[in-house]
Amino acid sequence: MKFGRISAIAVAALTATSLAACGSGSPGTGSTGGAAGGAGQTVKVGIKFDQPGLGLKSGSTYEGFDVDVANYVAKELNYTPQFVEAISSQRETLISTGQVKYIVGTYSITDTRKAKVSFAGPYFVAGQDLLVKSDETAITGPDTLTGKKLCSVKGSTSASNLQKKYPGVQLQEYNTYTLCVDALKAGNVDALTTDNTILAGYAAQAANKGQLKVVGTTFSTENYGVGLKKGDTAFCTQVTTALATFISSGEWQKSVDKWLGPAGFKPGAGNPPTAAACS
Ligand code: GLU
Repeated sequence: MKFGRISAIAVAALTATSLAACGSGSPGTGSTGGAAGGAGQTVKVGIKFDQPGLGLKSGSTYEGFDVDVANYVAKELNYTPQFVEAISSQRETLISTGQVKYIVGTYSITDTRKAKVSFAGPYFVAGQDLLVKSDETAITGPDTLTGKKLCSVKGSTSASNLQKKYPGVQLQEYNTYTLCVDALKAGNVDALTTDNTILAGYAAQAANKGQLKVVGTTFSTENYGVGLKKGDTAFCTQVTTALATFISSGEWQKSVDKWLGPAGFKPGAGNPPTAAACS
């Protein structure tokens, strides 16, 4: 009798512990658990650190459209974000190993990536383009790249799209787009290819002003999503709701005007998008 009671208490205590663990989660990995969301918990959030207008680390502050999205999601879900750099090739690993709770970093939703991570979104539609030196006349679009040296980034859709669609191009893959910008300015490559959003930011950057231009012939559709742990449908649904509010409240437009406007970038067809349901 006595033994039975102790067992019952032990089971109750154990259940309470597991529920608490489930509710609060551990930074970077926890499930959000219900309407309370993160309850102010600090979580690691992956962003880009070197993409002006999107995700840029400037001293100890972070700024750009993706940073606004990341902060908005955190605010709606009651999390305190701590930003960490998520370079293109590391994104799936950072998420699947629980080193970040989510990533907002010009992260295209693709079927290949969906095998490893889940996405909320899209929250923006971009397209792949080319960045060249201002005095470049021979490169006018992707069909003029044969024999040219192109730079892109490891683990990006930009690199894989190019290899698939334009195999005659000599592609050099670096770790970050800033390294590609340096190579382009130094004359080590003829062009840099990635999303038009990113390229517009580099062309407008003070250090590059007048030296680089975006060609302006987009040749892919890049649906940006918020990357998160594969199969965490509850969290994905909460992020999706936050993204919908970000758009419907007018914050999306304000953020686009603030961060992409100065580079003269106008969002193309399909913007603002409607986020898909989480599956
Ligand atoms: N949106 C593309 C991608 O997710 C290119 C930009 C990037 O590398 O972040 O791969």
